[in-house]
Formats: sequence, structure tokens, C-alpha cells
Amino acid sequence: MRLLWLRNDLRLDDHAGWQALADYQGKTAAVYILPAHWQKTDAAGLHRLGAAKAAYLQQALADLSARLAPFPLTLLQGEPVELLLAWHQQQPFELVTHVAQAPEEAGWLARLCDAGVKVQTFEAQPLFEPEQVAPLLEKFPASFTGFRKKVEKFPAWSVPAPQAAADLGRLQAANCPLTTGFDWPAMPGAPVHPAWQGGETAAQGWLKHYLFERRALAHYKTSRNDLAGRYFSSHLSAALAWSCLSSRTVWHQILEYEQQWGSDEHSYWLRFELLWREYFHWSLRVHGSQLFAAGGLTGKAGLGVFNPEYWQAWCEARTGWPMIDAGLKELMATGFCSNRLRQNLASCFIHELGLDWRLGARFFEQYLVDFDVASNWGNWAYIAGAGHDPRQGRRFNPHRQWRQYDPGLTHLHQWLPELGTVTLKQVEAHQRGERLLDYSAPLLPLEC
Ligand SMILES: Cc1cc2nc3c(=O)[nH]c(=O)nc-3n(C[C@H](O)[C@H](O)[C@H](O)COP(=O)(O)OP(=O)(O)OC[C@H]3O[C@@H](n4cnc5c(N)ncnc54)[C@H](O)[C@@H]3O)c2cc1C
Repeated sequence: MRLLWLRNDLRLDDHAGWQALADYQGKTAAVYILPAHWQKTDAAGLHRLGAAKAAYLQQALADLSARLAPFPLTLLQGEPVELLLAWHQQQPFELVTHVAQAPEEAGWLARLCDAGVKVQTFEAQPLFEPEQVAPLLEKFPASFTGFRKKVEKFPAWSVPAPQAAADLGRLQAANCPLTTGFDWPAMPGAPVHPAWQGGETAAQGWLKHYLFERRALAHYKTSRNDLAGRYFSSHLSAALAWSCLSSRTVWHQILEYEQQWGSDEHSYWLRFELLWREYFHWSLRVHGSQLFAAGGLTGKAGLGVFNPEYWQAWCEARTGWPMIDAGLKELMATGFCSNRLRQNLASCFIHELGLDWRLGARFFEQYLVDFDVASNWGNWAYIAGAGHDPRQGRRFNPHRQWRQYDPGLTHLHQWLPELGTVTLKQVEAHQRGERLLDYSAPLLPLEC
């Protein structure tokens, strides 16, 4: 028997795992396992499955089941290795699954191999094949620019045609001998953004809408730093994180767009951002568990401390800095906030409050609907000065940032309506410690 273990590769198209099942002569099955520990709360009060993230995952699995039918998608919940070994004991199989991104998954695959399971892996997340980037991995570029300049010279690569329904129709399904219930956390209502409708079908629809119907890419480079709105950036991150769309598919659709409408700085810049993602992905492959250490890739002593008062206020979106609290409220309610907000949240967490950047990364991990281990931890380390190109870390000046990116306070009014029609000057003064607003006092005066 051949078993496909899906993790964050919840799609049919451009997926070598389905091809491996279609090529197999005997019985086959496909399984998604929700790790039980994602729902366990740790000492800091965090877990790994915030409500918006869970909703996306549940919808993505439902969509995949529907696309696969009548071939069944088995859903299990528990400790992945224990469940797979229990299944293997009752019904031996060879396992097909995508390459581990993070050390935790690498550990799972190693335990399965040690227990005698034959494991075959394939790539599902990156743009490039390992052979293409192999020379870079030997001496990994210390900066994104060094990486980008090399990979931009690679020849174009192809995307396989959509998975043929006929291939799936040939699959002979094996029944799963195990049963476990599925215990989803409480879900929010309908997603607030169409891009947060989970699954391959919705992701394909959103990509088409964003690029070809709305043609929002036409202003990407100028709008991508905005804080609020539906089309300021692509909102493709969740589809990419759960790999409901392959990054190769997105890349090729951008090339298709360029064929139709011409290439310009905007279309180039979206590909540029996909290369940032690629950089963090390969960096994690190279550096492994080092990224999660207190000093990150620098190997230096830990940065930041634990301050329970600041941490509590952060978790309740009550820092007394309205710009930051609005971003936290959006993140916790929807599972998303813009890149510009993420940078400012991380900068305040690390450089103003002096908290350990790794706690901030775990906070994002719980909530982000697009949580991607390499991009999240890579960006947090970068801002902390514990990642690539460390210098002094990246400290952002929120006042200057809002003057540039949201002087009309559109985002703040949306997420803190109780403040009424305040001006940027009033908010800045309050954040500096002058109690001008009927709002919590700042934890610290924001002296910038
Ligand atoms: C502290 C912090 C944490 C982050 N955590 C995540 C995360 O867990 N998952 C995640 O996908 N992105 C993360 N990002 C990167 C970025 O903020 C999001 O990818 C982006 O905001 C998602 O919106 P979008 O799809 O509209 O992006 P767009 O601007 O439309 O970009 C297109 C795609 O490029 C990729 N991309 C863009 N910027 C980056 C970047 N800086 N690093 C890596 N990839 C990028 C994403 O896949 C994104 O979907 C983080 C950034 C910061 C500063």
C-alpha cells in the first residue's frame, strides 16, 4: 500500500505526491493529521491553532475532500508519528510526503524511518528544485540581495499541467484501520476577506480575480505598504502557506499577466516578494534549529527578557499605543495584518518593550492564517537583528511610518472605533506619554 501524508500541501495541482499515488499499481490512501499539541496551551498561554487559522485549515481540507471525491481523504487527530506507526502496524505501507521544512517535521520523518517505514519525499513548497539551488546551499548568501541576484539568473522552469481527473479516477482506495475524532476549536463566522476562504478552489479563484479581473497588480509596488484595504497587496499568503497554490503556479500566472498587460515595476515586485519567501525557506533548510535559538543565526547570547506586565498587555491589545493596539486587534480577529503592520508590531515588541523576539514569533504563529514557519521566524529574527544581515536589527519609528503610510488613520479608525475622530497629532502625543486621549496610558512613552 502507498500512503500520502499531507501537511501544508493541501492541493491537487502541481503536486508530486498525487502523481506518486497515481503511478502506483496497488492500494493507496491519503491522510491529514491535525497534531494534538497544536491545541495545547504552553506556559506563556499560547497554542498553535488560532480560530481564523483553524477555519482556513478546515475549509482547505473540506475543499480537498470535495475535489478528490469519491477517493477518500482520511482525517486524524493526535500525535502524527504514533498514529502513522499504529496504522503501519496494522497495514504496512510506504509513505509519500513532502520534504520537512522545520526541524520538528524532520524529527517526525526521522522517527518513522527509524521505525522501519519506507519514506519517499518530494518538494511541495519552494519555487526552485534542490538541484538548482544546491551550489547556493553550500555557502548560503548572507543577504537576500546576494541570493536574489543569483536565482534571478536561473532559467525558467515549468509547472506540470493540472492533475488529470483520470489519474485520480484510477486510484484504488485503501481503508484506514484507525479512528480518531476531530475536535476543532470555536470558529469565527465567514472570512472577512475573500482570500481567507480556505482551499485550492477559492485560492485559484482569488488569484484569477486579483490578477486578471481586478488587475490589482497594476498598483502593487505603490500600494503594498498600505495598512488597510482589499487590494493593496495580493493576499495570497495563506494559500501559499498551506500550499493550496504552489508558488510556481503563482509565479507563472504573474508571467502570464505580464504577457497580456506587459511587465513593469509592479509585476516585478510581486515576484521579488516571492523570492523573499524563497530565501527564508532555503535558509531554514540550511540553518535548521539554529533559527529558533535565542541568538538566532548570529549565535550570540539571547536578546530580550520576559516582562509579565508587558506580555499581558500585548496579548490583550492594550499597550496604550493605539497604532499598535489596532494592529494587534486586527491580527487576533482576522488572522492577518499587512506586512507594514507586522514590521511595526515586531519592532515595538522587540525594540520598545524589550521582549524576547521568539515569544513574539510564537504569538504570530498562533494567530496568523498564513503562518509559515520559515517566513515568520525569518522575519522576526531579521527585525531582532538575529537573522540574516543582522546589523543592529530593524527598529521602526511608528510615528514616521503612519505619517507615510496611513496619515488619515483609516486602519486605526477601523480597529479602534471607540477613539472617535482623533487626529494623527493627537495619537502621536498620546503615544509619547501626553494623556490627550480617553485611552489606556502607554506602557512606555514612545519616544520617536
Ligand atoms: C514579523 C513578520 C512575520 C511574518 N510572518 C509571516 C508568515 O508567517 N507567513 C507569511 O507568509 N509571511 C509572513 N510575513 C511576510 C509578509 O508580511 C506576508 O507574507 C504578507 O504580509 C502577506 O500578505 P500578502 O500575501 O498580501 O503579501 P504580498 O505583498 O502580496 O506578497 C506576495 C507573497 O510574497 C511573500 N512575501 C511577501 N513579503 C514577504 C516577506 N517579508 N517574507 C517572506 N515572504 C514574503 C508571501 O508569500 C506573500 O503572500 C511576516 C512578516 C513579518 C514582518
